[in-house]
Parts: sequence; structure tokens; C-alpha cells
Amino acid sequence: MLHIHGVKKGFHVGGSHIPILDIPQWKVSRGEKLAIIGPSGSGKSTLLHVISGILRADQGEVQIDGQQLHRMTESARDGFRASRIGYILQDFHLIPSLTARQNVEIVMPGKMGSAERRDRVDSWFERARLGDRSRHLPSQLSRGQQQRVAIIRALINEPPLVLADEPTGSLDWETADEVTGLLLELCRGEQHTLIVVTHDLNMADRFPKRVHISEINAIDGVKRLAGAGKERAI
Ligand code: ADP
Ligand code: MG
Repeated sequence: MLHIHGVKKGFHVGGSHIPILDIPQWKVSRGEKLAIIGPSGSGKSTLLHVISGILRADQGEVQIDGQQLHRMTESARDGFRASRIGYILQDFHLIPSLTARQNVEIVMPGKMGSAERRDRVDSWFERARLGDRSRHLPSQLSRGQQQRVAIIRALINEPPLVLADEPTGSLDWETADEVTGLLLELCRGEQHTLIVVTHDLNMADRFPKRVHISEINAIDGVKRLAGAGKERAI
């Protein structure tokens, strides 16, 4: 499903180049549910940005279902991302002036009929145990409920690849556990590949497969930061 080959990514900061990712080879199979753990600054978000094509790798290849996002035109890439990748972020990113269901409807294909659209949204809100909250504004929902709306928005178009960046990072322990359970439940089965990056070890423990970012990435972000500290001290 996902194949990364020879990918390098760094950032230019103040005239110097800081390497962040160096991934010789990494594959994720269809239907895998994978938690990538690693400390803050180790390149987890950068990795998801490179996978989704939001950021371009400096070199190497990223293939999703045999397709290379960076060989596409910008509009083809946007279309591919909208239909094939669901993205869940730590801070939900719901539009405050829209109701929960309107926040979901804006990512649905415009050509879908209104009855089909309504039924599909209703059934997903039921599955996420939010059936009675779909006409509420984000401000009228708890943080856990807001994240459940963001999960529905990521899954409504049934994307084969779901990426989540610290989805429980701003939730208390109990709510985090509930959201993790829901995400795994809704992504069950072969048709969804789920990659979560997190430093929440409780969340990672619920995943059938866990990998530390240092097993994928040859650059140790923590050492790099420690090194930068030393340089400053000198
Ligand atoms: P994580 O998600 O694991 O906390 P990130 O991928 O966000 O780590 O960041 C990895 C490193 O890359 C950090 O040291 C961060 O400061 C740096 N970084 C991330 N984005 C940029 C950017 N746009 N410009 C410069 N440095 C960046
Ligand atoms: Mg991050």
C-alpha cells in the first residue's frame, strides 16, 4: 500500500541544512494498523507530511498504491489526497461556524445527491456514537466529541489510507483511550490502512503493530538536538 524508498528530507534554517528524515526503505501493507512512536522533534509529523504529499521529499520516492504523488500535477495530487487519504490532527481543525455535520459535508463529493449525503452522514454519526450531536457547533461539544467529528470527516469518503498525527495529544487519558478505541473500530478490516504517530504509549499499546521512528529513520532527532545544544554551549 505504502512504499518509501531512499527518502531524505531536511530543512534550511538560518543558512544551515538540518537533516530530519533519512529512510532507506519502508513498506506498510494494506490493512495494517500501525502506531509510530518517538519523542517530540524526531520527525513524526514531517514523515506524515511527506507521505501525504503536503511536503516534497528532497530525494527518493513515496508510492501509495503504486502511484507517486510527486509525479502528479498539483490538482491531481489534491484530488488524490481528498479521495484516498484521511488526515486526523491533534487539534481537530473544525470550522467553528459550521455544525458538526456541515464540517463533515464540506469534504464530501459535490456531485453526491442530497438524500444519499444525509443518510451517509447520519450513519457515520451513529457509528461514532454522536447521533444526537450532529447539528451542534464545535463549541457545544467536548474535546473528545470534537475529535470524533474530525475522525468522521477523515473517514467519510472511505479513504484507503488514514494518517493521524498525535490524535489524542490534547485529550485526557480516559477520552484518549475512548478515541483510540473508536478509531481502531472504524478503521477495522482490510480496506483501511491506519498509520498513527504518537508519543502516547497507552495509545500505541492498543495497536496490533508498533514501530519506533528510529527503526524507520536513520537520523536520530534527539541526538541532533543534543548536538545542537552542545554547539550552542561552545
Ligand atoms: P515531531 O512531529 O516528531 O515532533 P517534526 O516532524 O514536527 O517532529 O519536526 C522534526 C524536526 O524538524 C524538529 O526539530 C523541527 O523543529 C524541525 N522542523 C519541522 N518543520 C520545520 C520547518 N518547516 N522548518 C524548519 N524546521 C522544521
Ligand atoms: Mg509532531
